[in-house]
Amino acid sequence: MTEQDLNIVVVGADGRMGRMLVAEIAATEGCRLSGATDREGSPAIGQDPGVLAGVGETGLKIIDDPAPAIAEADVVIDFTSPAATVNHARLCAQAGAALVAGTTGMSHSDEEALYLAARHIPVIYAANYSVGITLLMNLVEKAAATLRDDYDIEVLEMHHRHKVDAPSGTALALGKAAARGRKANHDAVKQAVRDGHTGARPKGEIGYATLRGGDVVGEHDVIFAAEGERLILGHKASARRVFAGGAVRAALWTKGKHPGVYDMNDVLGLKDHEAETITEAERHA
Ligand code: NAD
Repeated sequence: MTEQDLNIVVVGADGRMGRMLVAEIAATEGCRLSGATDREGSPAIGQDPGVLAGVGETGLKIIDDPAPAIAEADVVIDFTSPAATVNHARLCAQAGAALVAGTTGMSHSDEEALYLAARHIPVIYAANYSVGITLLMNLVEKAAATLRDDYDIEVLEMHHRHKVDAPSGTALALGKAAARGRKANHDAVKQAVRDGHTGARPKGEIGYATLRGGDVVGEHDVIFAAEGERLILGHKASARRVFAGGAVRAALWTKGKHPGVYDMNDVLGLKDHEAETITEAERHA
């Protein structure tokens, strides 16, 4: 550990992702865990985050007030809930700490809090921090641009039984990538629920199907179905470590970056421009 190590705070440190992040930080050079929080009333308050994560004592205790931890942080990694992420974004902007946000199920107004914070700090916001999914999004956008709307697009996803939002943030991000490829307005063509007498499938629709059960970490298929053929682009995550590894890589990448909203394409060098200025139209696309 050196003076130059990045100080990372994990909020929601008792969560499935939070524990994985604590373990990943312990295994990564160039950074250290400088604080850990969880919600008020959590049984994890007062416990050592390293012990909970199975990587040994860190000498830290999980606290329920994020303000003092964030005040000392270079970067905050947040995989919690939308309401918590909105609050953490405000605190990060006040403290000048970068934010790596992984929470899904954020509404447009929740996302607004991230864009506001990004006027002051680098904010990385990705529905999925795995390298494979980041590449898949690019492939889906390209396929959608090539195949046009005589191919029906359906996004199928499955996650573990504890997941609280549907369709998954990743499924929606894949659908948005397909809509971008087609130059379509995602909100106008999105069909997330089909039940009863739905009538025939309208051309241009992007459909979603959600499966929940067991301990599935995350599976996504984007299906392009036409008369005579189907192209299926898919990804299966078998360990949460892929998300934690991507998020810690993103945290290290924030060092020296300008305020703005970034995603995993920036972190992996798949974009050629620096800070992204999100327009009002793009925010709601
Ligand atoms: P989880 O329920 O296991 O963990 C969430 C943790 O956040 C819990 O410990 C909870 O107590 C804590 N929390 C809630 N409110 C809080 C607050 N106000 N302050 C501090 N901590 C608080 O859930 P999970 O499976 O770890 O997923 C968390 C989020 O991350 C979900 O939105 C999930 O969809 C998302 N996720 C994103 C990716 C990605 O790559 N972007 C990958 C996996 C999960």
